[in-house]
Amino acid sequence: MKTKTKREARIPSVPSLALSVREDLKYSGLGVSAGIAIGPAHVMEQGLIDVPEYIVTDVEEELARFDKAAKFSIKQVEKLRVKASTLSEAAAEELNYLLEAHLQMLAGSRLVRGVEKRIRSEKLNAEAAVQAELSEIAHAFSEMEDSYLASKIQDVREVSARLVRNLTKAGYQAFSGLAPGSIIIAEEITPADTALMDPNIVGGFASALGGAEDHTTIMARSLGLPAVLGVSGLVNQVRPGDMIVVDGVRGTVVVNPTEATIARFERRREALFRRQRQLERLRSVPATTRDDMRILLQCNLELPYELALARQVGAEGVGLLRSEFLYMNRDTLPSEDEQFVAFKEIVEGMEGHPVTVRTLDVGSDKLAYSLGEHISPSTNPALGLRAIRLSLKVRKLLETQLAAMLRASAHGELRILLPMINSASEIKRVQEAMDKVVRRLTRKRVAMSNPLPKLGIMIETPGAALAADSLAKSCDYFSIGTNDLTMYTLAADRGDEQVAHLYDPLHPAVLRLIKISVEAGRSAGIPVNLCGEMAGDPRFTALLLGLGLRDLSMAAPNLPRVKQRILGLGINDAEKRAEQIMEQTDSGVIATLIDDFNALD
Ligand code: PEP
Ligand code: MG
Repeated sequence: MKTKTKREARIPSVPSLALSVREDLKYSGLGVSAGIAIGPAHVMEQGLIDVPEYIVTDVEEELARFDKAAKFSIKQVEKLRVKASTLSEAAAEELNYLLEAHLQMLAGSRLVRGVEKRIRSEKLNAEAAVQAELSEIAHAFSEMEDSYLASKIQDVREVSARLVRNLTKAGYQAFSGLAPGSIIIAEEITPADTALMDPNIVGGFASALGGAEDHTTIMARSLGLPAVLGVSGLVNQVRPGDMIVVDGVRGTVVVNPTEATIARFERRREALFRRQRQLERLRSVPATTRDDMRILLQCNLELPYELALARQVGAEGVGLLRSEFLYMNRDTLPSEDEQFVAFKEIVEGMEGHPVTVRTLDVGSDKLAYSLGEHISPSTNPALGLRAIRLSLKVRKLLETQLAAMLRASAHGELRILLPMINSASEIKRVQEAMDKVVRRLTRKRVAMSNPLPKLGIMIETPGAALAADSLAKSCDYFSIGTNDLTMYTLAADRGDEQVAHLYDPLHPAVLRLIKISVEAGRSAGIPVNLCGEMAGDPRFTALLLGLGLRDLSMAAPNLPRVKQRILGLGINDAEKRAEQIMEQTDSGVIATLIDDFNALD
């Protein structure tokens, strides 16, 4: 199915629920990526969307694509409905009423039936069929005498816009041509959307949905974009071009700030910049504690262009390269050559420092459209066909990645990391796939490192942590992923703002699992690194060192702050405090013990 023509269609804008411009409207949410951004709003739900128009060859396939977009739209609206219940009573009622109408429409209305009919009879692609059907319905509504009924066209427009967005994945193209410093406002911002945000253009973002440690958050931190998620009621109050302040430190969003408010935030932003510049002077200072314990500080990379930042802050390697970026915002899978070139550039760019490349970890909140047919909807995506499970099921995915990694290993130190491992048999199956790829490459006389790259595993489920002693026998190193470890241990979705208060890496259960993993690695004599977001928070540095970690990997912007913390620490003191902490049963007490200890230095 190839695009034959492209038509630029205006998706009619959604009117704001606010009737007049009100100044200094303040909203609170989860401040997930530090920094302050001030700029004009770009509301993702509005604006021009390129609607491709073409004749389809396989009608059934197109109907299935439309059905998938409609189901996904229903899911989105249902999520928003839950979210609306946290608003004030009147606003909740109004929004609920609206969303209920949208749900009914998506479940089967003239719009949906009309689109299906057009796909069948005109063989029109789904997004063009939605546009055509919307035009016809709008025309019919405009002739109605009853003004109440005529006004209902707005609902049809909103539902159509949602369907078109989900069909075209319009978020993909939404961030070019924006005014510099624009603040993206949306219901939901996916990791793939974030991957398209150029920090030279986008100032920051705020959304209604999203949790404290989902991948959108992680990418925002890596890109240094201030972000506030989980802000109820925001989207309907913002119009394109409204001035917005996003304070990612305190989790505040201000719509149409007064001059005095802007001046206040500008002063705070300047203070944050000054502090960042001071920290950058630590670049070439080794990360050594007061009592001479050398700590390895590496960076996590989401996107290749963060490499420059990793070098700028003096990272001693890439502790986690999330290979998902290769699969985002595209409909086809990346080839072995394409992946090889991407890995090679990073390996060479790190100039002798090791680069740890993780095999694909999609599923759960990380969706890659290019994998469309391989991932079917699941009731519990975080427990479903995610990460290594998908790679082991679709062997081609795994073998292509392994081949690209093995080839890149000839250009510098590369280590291979496997996500979501739970059992030794999974590692064994990867090892078998790797042996097969090595044989193929050897036959073709392709260069690889000698010895071959080390093969490590993420410890990010309670099962893996508890079985770490036996898993250590089957791999070369551990990397502890506290983002998922916290989620799975506490059964609290890292991407759901409604349970963000339950998502607590200081919970004794999480700390015990970290300790068990560190000790298992140590007894087996294999290196243990920690690459979850905890590693990048200087508040946790003393605790992690006290638990025995000597190797941390984090988003580049966090590295200087963590290094500064290490320079002021004594390892013996940190170990003693960690021992006290491990005796506690309450995470509130643990937090106080950490804060008191941090305040001493
Ligand atoms: C983790 O789970 O801690 C981790 C580093 O992996 P990701 O955040 O990519 O799931
Ligand atoms: Mg993980």
